[in-house]
Amino acid sequence: MRRASAVALAVVVPGALLGWGAYAALGGPRDSGPDRVKSAAPSGWTAPSDGTSANGGIGAGAKPGPDSAATPLKGKVVVIDPGHNPANHRHTAEINRQVDIGTNRKECDTTGTSTNSGYSEAAFTLDVAHRLRALLQQRGATVKLTQDADRPYGPCVDERARIGNAAHADAVVSLHADGSGSGNRGYHVILPGEVRAGGADTRAVVGPSRELGRLVSAGFGRATGTAPSNYVGDGSGIVTRKDLGGLNLSTVPKVFIECGNMRDTKDAALLTSGAWRQKAAQGISDGIVSFLRG
Ligand SMILES: [Zn+2]
Repeated sequence: MRRASAVALAVVVPGALLGWGAYAALGGPRDSGPDRVKSAAPSGWTAPSDGTSANGGIGAGAKPGPDSAATPLKGKVVVIDPGHNPANHRHTAEINRQVDIGTNRKECDTTGTSTNSGYSEAAFTLDVAHRLRALLQQRGATVKLTQDADRPYGPCVDERARIGNAAHADAVVSLHADGSGSGNRGYHVILPGEVRAGGADTRAVVGPSRELGRLVSAGFGRATGTAPSNYVGDGSGIVTRKDLGGLNLSTVPKVFIECGNMRDTKDAALLTSGAWRQKAAQGISDGIVSFLRG
C-alpha cells in the first residue's frame, strides 16, 4: 500500500516545473507522468505523519521505466549524505575525535539536533534520504548513501566527503535540519566557499556547486511552498561557508541543505510530517535533476 502510494507520489511533479520540453522528453503522458499520477493515488491513502517510516518501503518500489527517455539520469551518480547518525549519541568519544578538514581540525561528527518533542535530526535526514533515493532512482540515477544507520556512528565528516569523491559523484547533497532559536524559520542551502588549505581545494567545485545549490534551493522552495531562512543569509536561502569539512574536502559538486529549524514549533510541524518530507525530497530531486540535465 505505502509502496504503491510512494511511487505515485514520487511523480507528482507538475510538468511546469520540468519545463514542457523536459516533460515531453521524459515520455510525456506515456510514462507515469504528472497528469495520471493523481488518479493513480489510492484515495484512502494518508501520508505517514511521523518518522517511523524511515526504513519503510518508500524506496523499494521505485523502478526505472523501460523507456530510457524516462531515465534521464542514467549513468549519473548521486551521493546522498544523511547528516549525523541515529546512534552517534552512544559514541560520543568516537564522534568527538578531531579530524583534518584541510583548514583546521574539527569533530568527526555530531549528534545533530531534534524537535522539542524528540524527533531527531538523524531520523529526519535518513527518512528524506530514502525518499530522495527513490525519486532519483526512478530517473535512472545510481544513488549511494554515505550512511544508512548501518554503522555504529558517523561516518566522520572527512569520510563523508571522501565517499562522494571516491564515487566520482556528479552531485552530492548533504541533508540536515537546523537547531536554532524559536521563531527562526525556513530552509537554506550551504555552498562550499573557495578553500585551498591542507588537503582541501574547492576551487574546481565552487562554481558547479553554486549552480547545484541554486537549483536545489529553488526546487525545494517550489515543492514545499516554504520560505527561505529568515535568520541565515540574505533571504535568498543560500549561504556560503568555509568551515564545513564535508564541503571543504569535496572534489565533486556538493551542497548542504538545512530543511528547516527543528526547534521552531511551526517548522517542526512540517519536518515531522511524512507528507511534507516527501515534498522536501521531491524539491531536492527536482533541483538535482535540473542540475544534471544541464
Ligand atoms: Zn545537521
